[in-house]
This record gives sequence, C-alpha cells and structure tokens, in this order.
Amino acid sequence: MASNVADLMLDGDPATQLLQEIFTFDITLAKIRCRECGSAFGLGALALVGDSQEARVRCSNCESDLIRASRTREGLLLELSGTRHLHF
Ligand SMILES: [Zn+2]
Repeated sequence: MASNVADLMLDGDPATQLLQEIFTFDITLAKIRCRECGSAFGLGALALVGDSQEARVRCSNCESDLIRASRTREGLLLELSGTRHLHF
C-alpha cells in the first residue's frame, strides 16, 4: 500500500489524480460557500484572523469559521468543516 500521494500517482489511479488536481489549486481564486448560512465569497472578501501558527477564515455574512489551518508537531492541518464547498 502506498504511504503518500506521490506513490499513489505512480499507480495512475484516476481518483488519486483527481484529488491531486484539486489540492494544487490557488485558494485565492476559489469561491468558498459557508455551511452555516450558504453565502459564497472569494477569499479576499472574507475575514482572515490568526498568526503564523494558526489561521482562521471567517464568513463575512455570519462570522462562522469556514477554514482553519494550523501547524502541528506532525505537520500542517487543514479543516474545512465550516464550508459547504469550494468552487474554483
Ligand atoms: Zn456564513
């Protein structure tokens, strides 16, 4: 079994290729839809709070947390639980 995405790509798995394509997108070009209120905004129209260890993106309409990115001892952590989807 492959231990990382790069190993999976060598297998030519189409599902893995789709995920690889999705996770190389430019976040600044994405429209982010809020799970709570359904509003959609570009990243530039959303409130960004935090520092170099943790960043939170908040909905401009209802102020719910949409995205949380943080540095952990094990690596980077990305939570999208406040988003309905990203469109790019
Ligand atoms: Zn919202």
